[in-house]
Amino acid sequence: LDPEEFRRLGHAVVDWVAGYRAGIGEHPVRAQVEPGWVRERMPALPEQPQPFDALLAELDRVVVPATTHWQAPGFFGYFPANASLHSVLGDLLSGGLGVQGMLWSTSPAATEVEQVLLDGLADALGLDPAYTWAGGGGGTIADSASSAALVALLAALHRTSGGAWRERGVDGTERVYVTAETHSSLAKAVRVAGLGAAALRIVPPSPGSLAMSAQAFAEMAAEDVAAGLRPVLVCPTIGTTGTGAVDPVREIALAAREHGTPGREIWVHVDAAWAGVAALCPEHRDVIDGVELADSFCTDAHKWLLTAFDASLLWVRDAAALPAALSITPEYLRNSATDSGEVVDYRDWQVPLGRRFRALKLWSVLHGFGLEGVRAHLRGHVALAAELESWIVAEPGFELAVPRSLSLVCLRLSAGDEATRALLERVNATGRVLLTHTVVDGRYVIRVAIGSVATEREHVEELWGLLTSR
Ligand code: PLP
Repeated sequence: LDPEEFRRLGHAVVDWVAGYRAGIGEHPVRAQVEPGWVRERMPALPEQPQPFDALLAELDRVVVPATTHWQAPGFFGYFPANASLHSVLGDLLSGGLGVQGMLWSTSPAATEVEQVLLDGLADALGLDPAYTWAGGGGGTIADSASSAALVALLAALHRTSGGAWRERGVDGTERVYVTAETHSSLAKAVRVAGLGAAALRIVPPSPGSLAMSAQAFAEMAAEDVAAGLRPVLVCPTIGTTGTGAVDPVREIALAAREHGTPGREIWVHVDAAWAGVAALCPEHRDVIDGVELADSFCTDAHKWLLTAFDASLLWVRDAAALPAALSITPEYLRNSATDSGEVVDYRDWQVPLGRRFRALKLWSVLHGFGLEGVRAHLRGHVALAAELESWIVAEPGFELAVPRSLSLVCLRLSAGDEATRALLERVNATGRVLLTHTVVDGRYVIRVAIGSVATEREHVEELWGLLTSR
């Protein structure tokens, strides 16, 4: 494509996306196809170049019917995967620039825009200034909260080994503390790091709650130290995936300090993948209480912060920690800017070498919405969830399974698990909405995660109508 042809086709693509989004409410939210449906319909690879318009027709024929419409207003499943159109435009700009931001020198703007945005967001979230570049820490945009947890664990392994981990690897004494509600990405990080399943310690919750008991964590860490084991990392979650539970970060971080020793400090990684962005609203800032005592904090812009996947925001309070664990510099990557020590090379903050200019889509969102617009987006969903919660409480036969967490409402029927499961299936089968489930204390629970960019009150009313229609 030459740039003129690209201009023509680009308009067609934008028209297609605009049309898709304008009509998104008309599709069944969940794809209604059987396994293999797409494979059977995919055309053979062409030997000859094909006109681009034909590809758009294929999207309508093969892709759209087999798509679960995450941007639909009736999408209430999992957690939201906001892809605001501002962020889509930012992604297009990033692809258009086509830069590879592995080193500062391979595209200074890719690095510095990211640094400035993450500093600005740290401030807007009310994070401790120690997480900013001026404060000795810094932020980066990872591809996912899973990757963020992995690199935090690698930095922790490096730190608690006194730097020996890079040479020697793990020795089987490492221990990582989570709860049964912690996202599975932590267990995966433990596996990827080669620690073995025994390294993962499941801390029980405080009585009557789903949140980690800081006291139980302290006791486990003390036992492990006494047994010659090495507590490496504890991961409190702010907003667990199942029910939105919030672990007591402050107490956990204080316990970590008590049971770590100089050179063997226990790394505290806070996973706030979904809920962390709520701290942009002063009235919800209490969710990040205690994060100032942690070592790293992660929240996904690609969940509830309007930014198309992938954009996971990770801050660490020691800017040297990730490069110390991860940096390897072959001759072909050496350059004078790196040697000067004055720049950040984000390749040292992640597992892959190459990296996209993800900051552009985030910038596009923050520029286009402004912080007030972002807060209105978050507040709108929390208000809708509060309304839904009040309807559930007032409705005979319905129960809240756990207290509402921000915009996540968990409900069940008093008639029992089978009735709740049947309700979920019946409501999803309408195609108007998509809900997902979890299990709390052995009981089946429907989760309603309000957070789609397009979701308005009328959509929550429609959902409630479907839930209560007999
Ligand atoms: N942590 C929590 C609490 C989550 O809810 C999720 C995903 O839902 C993740 C981590 C993983 O997110 P990602 O897809 O960014 O790796």
